[in-house]
Amino acid sequence: MSDAAQATSEPASSGPRATDARATALTAETRGLIVVVEDERSIAELERLYLTEAGFGVHIESDGRVGLAKIRQLKPVAVILDVGLASLDGIEICRAMRESGDWTPVIFVTARDDEIDRILGLELGADDYLTKPFSPRELVARLRSVLRRHQGPTIAGPVVVGAVSLDAASRRVVAGGISVELTSTEFDLLATLMATPDRVFTRENLMSSVWGHVDYTGGRTVDVHIAQLRAKLGSASNIRTSRGVGYSAQS
Ligand code: CA
Repeated sequence: MSDAAQATSEPASSGPRATDARATALTAETRGLIVVVEDERSIAELERLYLTEAGFGVHIESDGRVGLAKIRQLKPVAVILDVGLASLDGIEICRAMRESGDWTPVIFVTARDDEIDRILGLELGADDYLTKPFSPRELVARLRSVLRRHQGPTIAGPVVVGAVSLDAASRRVVAGGISVELTSTEFDLLATLMATPDRVFTRENLMSSVWGHVDYTGGRTVDVHIAQLRAKLGSASNIRTSRGVGYSAQS
């Protein structure tokens, strides 16, 4: 870490900052605690700065294994994971969380574009992705969006479209009489489609209403999650592809 990098991450107006991670964690007030697992110290400190300014409590770990243990111990409202880490990488941390039934929102921070395709292909239930170098303001915006959709139902009351019923209040989905477990992203995609049956949504429509932004993957993020959603809904799936246009929930 260079002095210059450190200096630019230090706002002129900031007061004394807690250097003890536990002390910072305990100051988590209204917006909740975020665990950041990141081994590049200058990036971690920049994330801490912006997240703290945005009102979040922040706990930073640089080692993957310790990071996972802290996530389990501290139960944050969201987790920001660097992909390349010592001992346990970000993908392995996310997988371990999901395997133990922990669906806390995860935002991946990767050093390489092609890692995003890998993460998408692994069905980790990751909620969003950022490629380094990224704007810390963008990270905060993504985090807010992820938390918003994790907490708030997109439509009120149970809705039935085709053979699928969806209850936003309980976040329960039943397809062909069988209860289906969805990730928060899959649920939000389905809820968005089912809120207006038979309307064809473009990938950009879906990206912007579910993720809160449009990424550069040209709709691939949407396609991958739709494919995973369809696989879970099975033969009762109500999702229709309009070639070259997008997707709809067919009544
Ligand atoms: Ca790294």
